[in-house]
Formats: sequence, structure tokens, C-alpha cells
Amino acid sequence: MKTLSLKSILSLQENVPLAMYTTLKVGGPARYFVIAKNTDEMVSAVQEAHSAGVSVVVIGGGSNVLVSDLGFSGLVVIAKNDHVQAQGAHIIAEAGAVLARVSRVAYGSGLSGLEFGVGIPGSVGGAVVGNASNFIGAAKDVVHEVLALDEKGKTRALSNAECRFWYRHSVFKEKPWIVLQVTFALAEKPKGEIKARMDEITVYKKKTQKTKYPTSGCMFKNPRLETAETRAHAESKGLGEGIRYSEDMECETVPLRVLLEKLNMKGFQIGGIAISESNANFLENRGGATAEDVIMMMSVIKQKVRDHFGIQLFDEVQMIGFK
Ligand SMILES: Cc1cc2nc3c(=O)[nH]c(=O)nc-3n(C[C@H](O)[C@H](O)[C@H](O)COP(=O)(O)OP(=O)(O)OC[C@H]3O[C@@H](n4cnc5c(N)ncnc54)[C@H](O)[C@@H]3O)c2cc1C
Repeated sequence: MKTLSLKSILSLQENVPLAMYTTLKVGGPARYFVIAKNTDEMVSAVQEAHSAGVSVVVIGGGSNVLVSDLGFSGLVVIAKNDHVQAQGAHIIAEAGAVLARVSRVAYGSGLSGLEFGVGIPGSVGGAVVGNASNFIGAAKDVVHEVLALDEKGKTRALSNAECRFWYRHSVFKEKPWIVLQVTFALAEKPKGEIKARMDEITVYKKKTQKTKYPTSGCMFKNPRLETAETRAHAESKGLGEGIRYSEDMECETVPLRVLLEKLNMKGFQIGGIAISESNANFLENRGGATAEDVIMMMSVIKQKVRDHFGIQLFDEVQMIGFK
């Protein structure tokens, strides 16, 4: 194992349990660990790790990750750089800023486009990496520019097109680049209208995602029904009513929670992990869940969905520390 000598990282810690930095509350320790309170600290931590040949992962809100029980053998940087400012019709937010807070800053400035963010846990960085979205908006619709750190330790500004946004996808899932700061381009609107959209998503989330247990939200992406054959197959399996067009995915889909409801999988439990009664695409940590429980559960779900509906599922949650 490589030894890290991060002289300039004053707050470097070792063997820090990561479970408390994830919303699912699962996972082993980070060999090296730092909380970056500002962008300079984030950059120097990542650059030092790169030059020491140590792998790095940045975590924002930890609401879309599964950390292995063995933890991560490199450096974990927790993004707490969270400065946010309005500049004309732009909001400039550092990667560690909580997305819902940035949405509220936009609202306070009479700027529309980030209303969707009140319903999504986590940071601005995480939202850009996974192109976070819901039925009222998506990161891809409002990102104007991303300031990132590349694998050579250089900062670069990426346009919206260069971010290569797609359903739950961006260039940051293709390359080991770190999101440092994001500029959102928004539109001026009456505050009442902005508030109404924020309330709409809040009410929807309260109704459809009631859980008192730790969770990391949707574990799988919704399946794409791109061809007439896949659509016909889904219909023949009794999924007709669930089929809808997703603007986000630019094709038809059946929400995964519908598939799992049809399979009567709500409440199904392996070890400490269970399928939520409220949203069947959510896994809940009912107490003492391990990453191994989660992996077993995900395998069972994938197999059942494949066997019954002929649909292959793909992970939405990002894996950390699995070799
Ligand atoms: C209750 C609940 C509801 C949810 N609802 C939605 C929803 O409606 N829509 C939706 O899209 N998602 C939803 N999610 C999933 C999650 O909230 C989003 O994916 C969110 O954008 C993740 O942000 P984060 O900061 O928590 O990312 P993290 O979980 O911290 O990280 C996710 C990935 O991004 C990487 N990453 C994070 N920050 C950076 C950075 N600065 N630079 C480079 N890489 C980085 C991490 O390494 C990891 O690979 C939900 C989750 C929960 C728990």
C-alpha cells in the first residue's frame, strides 16, 4: 500500500469510518481522509494525492454512494467548500454547497430553474456528476459552466456541452475529474411562481418517499424502453399502465418502483437492508446493514427483474472501494 505524505493537508486523518458520511450509513474506513473546508484545500489535497500516486474520491452529501465494507484504500475528500453567490441571472456555487440551499438562494434572488433541487439531497458537485433531476427539472438544464480539476491537477472550465450530460450521466463519470465550482444560468421570474414549483416537488417527495430509515435513494436507473419490441414486451408483462415518456431519458420508461411492486418485493429484507414500503426503488438500512447485504439485495433484485420482465437493470448508486 502506498504511503501518503500530504504535508500541506493540515487536517489529514487516517482510517476514518465512512458510514457516517453517507446517507445509507454503510461502509468501512477511508485509509486517508480530509474534510476540505474550501476549494483551495480541496485542490491541494487532490493534487498531493495525485503526485503521491494515491487514488482519490470526493464525496459531497454521500446520498448516492455505496461504500464497501473494507472501505477505500486511498484518500477520501469530503467537499465542504460551500460558498454561493448570485451574479445577475447566474448563481455561482462551490461543489460542496448543499443543492437545496442553492435552490433557496436562487429563489431569494428571484431566479428560476433550480426549483427541482429542493427535492434532492446532496451537494452541487454530486448533482452535476449524476445529472440529478426530477419531474420539474434537471442539472443539465441549468448548468452553464463547471470549473473542474483534471487528472493532471490542472483546472479547466467546461461548458454545458462539454459536461456530456445524459440521464444520470456526465463526463465526470467517464473521467476522474473533480467538480470545484458550478455556474448555473437561470431566468428571472416572480418569486410566487418559483415558490409554487418548490412546494410542488416538496409535497410530491413527502408523499412518495416516506422513510424513517437511512437510505441512498434510488439504487437503480429506470429502465429504457427504446424500441417497439421492448415496449411490447413490457406491455405483455402487465406493465402497460406504468409506461410513460421521460423527458429526462428522452425515451419511454417504466419506473423501477412499479416493476418491484409488481414482483411484491416491498418489505423484502436481507440482513439489515430492506426494500422500502414507501418506494420500492429505495433500499433502507433497518439497522446494522453491511455493504455485502446491499450487494446481495441488488443482485437478487436484478435477477428477479431480468427473469420476470427480461429487463436488465443498471446501478444508479456509485460504488466506492469495490475492486
Ligand atoms: C431520499 C433520497 C432521494 C433522492 N432523490 C433523488 C432524485 O429525485 N433525483 C436524483 O437525481 N437523485 C436523487 N437522489 C440521489 C442523490 O441525492 C443525488 O444523486 C445527489 O445529486 C447526489 O449528491 P451527493 O452530493 O450526495 O453525491 P455523493 O453521494 O456524495 O457522490 C455521488 C457521486 O459523485 C461523486 N462526487 C461527489 N461530489 C463530487 C465532486 N465535487 N467532484 C467529483 N465527483 C464528485 C462521488 O465520488 C460519487 O461518485 C436521492 C437520494 C436520497 C437519499
